[in-house]
Amino acid sequence: MQTILNFIGGEFLPPQSGNYLNNYEPATGNIYSKVPDSDERDVALAVVAAKNAFPAWSATSIEVRSEIMLRIAALITERLEQLALAETIDQGKPLWLSKSMDIPRAAQNFHFFGTEILHFASEAHPTTGYLNYTLRSPIGVVGCISPWNLPLYLFTWKIAPAIATGNCVVAKPSELTPMTAFLLAAICKEAGLPAGVLNIVHGLGHEVGTAMSEHRDIHAISFTGGTNTGQKIAKIAAPMFKKLSLELGGKNPNIVFADCNLSDAALTSARAAFTNQGEICLCGSRIFIERSIYSEFKEKFIENVRKFTVGDPLDPATRQGALVSLAHLDKVLSYIQIAKDEGGTIALGGNQINPEGRCANGWFVEPTVIEGLGADCRINQEEIFGPVVSLVPFDTEEEALSMANSTPYGLAAVVWTENLSKAHRVAAKLESGIVWINCWMVRDLRTPFGGVKHSGVGREGGFEALKFFTEPKNVCVKM
Ligand code: NAD
Repeated sequence: MQTILNFIGGEFLPPQSGNYLNNYEPATGNIYSKVPDSDERDVALAVVAAKNAFPAWSATSIEVRSEIMLRIAALITERLEQLALAETIDQGKPLWLSKSMDIPRAAQNFHFFGTEILHFASEAHPTTGYLNYTLRSPIGVVGCISPWNLPLYLFTWKIAPAIATGNCVVAKPSELTPMTAFLLAAICKEAGLPAGVLNIVHGLGHEVGTAMSEHRDIHAISFTGGTNTGQKIAKIAAPMFKKLSLELGGKNPNIVFADCNLSDAALTSARAAFTNQGEICLCGSRIFIERSIYSEFKEKFIENVRKFTVGDPLDPATRQGALVSLAHLDKVLSYIQIAKDEGGTIALGGNQINPEGRCANGWFVEPTVIEGLGADCRINQEEIFGPVVSLVPFDTEEEALSMANSTPYGLAAVVWTENLSKAHRVAAKLESGIVWINCWMVRDLRTPFGGVKHSGVGREGGFEALKFFTEPKNVCVKM
């Protein structure tokens, strides 16, 4: 049984409490490692380490920071097999997905921000007789809190821009998926990241996360997770005037117009609904289909969904792995029951699965397709975050837009049409931070990433992230 440790001031340390939480392998339901059950004392130690490291790190040249970050990226790539296996065992996603998406993207995050920092510049505003220029300084000690669905991918998406800009970080991965963050700590040490620049405190959200939100010397928090948790953090941090970046939940619409390329739409919509067990904030969980092609789309879509074979995440033939926790399995199953109670029809799936062999006690649910429910039903309003998708017909563009915009969320949307004007018109009217037209989850790391309404505040990605992690100061000089 492996014991995970905190990483504070360059050392691997047990939690001050001496207590550990169980860490489960979702595919088997077995406890396979122990995670520190840290509290505010560990956060306090991490903040001291970060504060001590800050003067030297913030004075380090961008070239040196960049070199260290590129070494981290290279080591992640070198250890792809080990990290991918660790991610899959911890999270439940198929191993091929960890290898092709999660771990390469974690390396890319360090590579991207490690090179972007070399091209980051600030503005000058010359005016008659005066010159204004903007200095951008690191904030100091910043907090990064990440969720369990894309563990190393999202953890590094926050840490990389924070350290590139000269900040020192106190970071908390999800207590459900701590393993790759633990392995990253060793990689950072090996790559020569100075002690205290990155500190990782493991533990529960309401303990470690709350202590981070409350700590006076953590001046900014970058958070990705649920909308309710974002509200809790904001309640504590906003009156302290901390800078906040909140990437929250979604209930993303996928609008299929009759003039689309039907094969592409059916294939990609299945991927958009069920990749990573539907546990991606960008998953299209509400599919609105123009009524004239409803039956044809449904048939093709379900044909593609049937290919999402559920089973052992280590089996290369598996397309859909296990759900992250028993609590999450119960939540997903409860929503399938709610759909039935609301009068919905299960067009495919709808059941828990117990595969044969080592995964017999794992947390698996069939890819589930529901129809017959209006856009205002709970199933079409609340985030399920699992392998459950709902099909809803529409008659006009206005109706599709009104249903798409009817939830409190506004993270991502997909539009399927071959009509260029319609594509642009609908994209402009969608209440959403991201719109994909005839594609899904194509990510260019330079683009602004984030949501509107209850899906969040602020943007990550590209220069937006470097701006978030720096404080601008205008200097005005008489010429
Ligand atoms: P969560 O909000 O339960 O937990 C996220 C992180 O916050 C974890 O590390 C957790 O320990 C911590 N946390 C929990 N309570 C806290 C508190 N009171 N104070 C501070 N930290 C606390 O979310 P989750 O279940 O891990 O992840 C799923 C959610 O994340 C979904 O809603 C999903 O849509 C969202 N998500 C959003 C994005 C995005 O980019 N917008 C990306 C991925 C996931």
